[in-house]
Amino acid sequence: MQGLMMDVPLTVTGILRHARLNHPEQQVVSITADHPRHRYTYGEAFARSAQLANALDRLQLPAGARIATLAWNDFRHLELFYAVACAGRILHTVNPRLLPEQIAWIINDAGATMLFAAPEFAPLLAKLTPHLVHVRTIVFMTGPAHLPPASPAPLLADARCYEQLLAGEPPEFNWPDLDERTACSLCYTSGTTGHPKGVLYSHRSTVLHAMAAAGADVMGVTARDGVLPVVPMFHVNAWGIPFIVPMTGGKLVLPGRGAGDPATLVDLINTERVTVALGVPTVWLALLQYLAATGVRLPSLKRTVVGGAACPQAVIDEFRDRHGVETHHAWGMTETSPLGTFNSPKPGQEKLPLEAARALQAKQGRSVFGVEMRIVGDDGHELPRDGRTFGSLQVRGPFVASGYYGMEKSDVHTVDGWFDTGDVATIDPDGYMQITDRTKDVIKSGGEWISSIELENHTVGHPAVAEAAVIGVAHPKWSERPLLIVVLKPGETVSRDDLLAFLAGKVASWWVPDDVVFVPEIPHTGTGKINKIQLREQYRDHLKKE
Ligand code: AMP
Repeated sequence: MQGLMMDVPLTVTGILRHARLNHPEQQVVSITADHPRHRYTYGEAFARSAQLANALDRLQLPAGARIATLAWNDFRHLELFYAVACAGRILHTVNPRLLPEQIAWIINDAGATMLFAAPEFAPLLAKLTPHLVHVRTIVFMTGPAHLPPASPAPLLADARCYEQLLAGEPPEFNWPDLDERTACSLCYTSGTTGHPKGVLYSHRSTVLHAMAAAGADVMGVTARDGVLPVVPMFHVNAWGIPFIVPMTGGKLVLPGRGAGDPATLVDLINTERVTVALGVPTVWLALLQYLAATGVRLPSLKRTVVGGAACPQAVIDEFRDRHGVETHHAWGMTETSPLGTFNSPKPGQEKLPLEAARALQAKQGRSVFGVEMRIVGDDGHELPRDGRTFGSLQVRGPFVASGYYGMEKSDVHTVDGWFDTGDVATIDPDGYMQITDRTKDVIKSGGEWISSIELENHTVGHPAVAEAAVIGVAHPKWSERPLLIVVLKPGETVSRDDLLAFLAGKVASWWVPDDVVFVPEIPHTGTGKINKIQLREQYRDHLKKE
């Protein structure tokens, strides 16, 4: 039809062009092994992305080539995000915390031919490379002075230095006009059972996700914000932050390996005047403990975004009461780019009485525009949005995966076009979704469901508790009963009976766990979630022994 709007493709290249033209002076700060505090601008970042794209052309990597990374959040990783995607190749971020055999399996499945790695992963690479089928070139993300010493095991691939690769390349690149449906990045799900599965993002889905997530009632990032993604760039593209922040012109603060160290994070927040920080609950639990022990304050920080696992109420309370920081609970998955819901108040909900506000904030939030949600029962019928009825959470939208990379069939997509998330949830009349469990983690006691997440949240509210996990274990009468596994804060004590009494006032009596096990540490998966499969394996017969 004549006079219709321009059909300009939605591409990551559009974000790069926009940021380079409109925010060239804005800063990107990062920590790497060779730079304790690296600082440059978007102007410089995107000029170096162009240099890198020229270097990749020189190496004759074809369009659609998968380029893997084993790296933390830093400026070179950011350059790769744009250099690879905007030249029509696919960035394949890999979680270095997985087991070497899992990493090799993922990189082979992706068919990656080139691998960029932080130099500290040299020992891991020596173990990996004999198993990598397609990788021909490895690039260490550092300068010549910081290359790893010659590895004891041969790398079985051409090894190069990132800074040498860029040196002499022109800072301009003739970025191709890409179709918005071109793939730009590939991430694998954590895969707690079976092999991990690849999720292939398109330029279009990435831009739509970034636009939706940037919104004022979602991440609300502005050109005046300093944003710290503690969530790794290998975990669903750091929740889209490497796209959202350049798009809006905010300052990007990348913590590198410091993401695992509360002291470094606090120092970054305070010296770089970070206003928004994002990460999984374990990060905030550790950071709050550090703040409580040192008495350090966070004057610049306005908001934290917490997702990836249920956010304990104690995190929200402590950020609000001790630091004046608002915590927003968000939910998402690798398959949803990842943002699906975000918790922000509706009119009239900003000033609720404390208890009502707390109950609302504990929910995972409302649909982000672009993600439709429903809950269904075992028969596939939609269940009411009454805030009480539990059902399987299904979603659909333009940044939700339609299937898995290289797989013909998916058993988690319905015939009517919805993706079954594997989460069990309620949706209330205001549209707030609350996860009660993973389908596999829900505890079925005498035919009734018990939410492990709710029990964990209450337990972490006890002042002596650092971390808690609740699993269902076999029981002769009820088929399954909850078992509480607890890590105490250093120097704290609480008895089994006192802890159970603490819970008794907060949940239905039949939800109270049958026993408590105190442990020095709870196992986590590579993406920082509690490893319930391992716990169930370990404590399977705990109640039978009793
Ligand atoms: P991943 O694809 O590794 O990001 O894992 C996605 C899964 O993490 C979801 O299906 C949920 O089970 C869980 N998850 C993510 N965010 C939350 C949250 N805010 N509360 C509870 N579970 C969450």
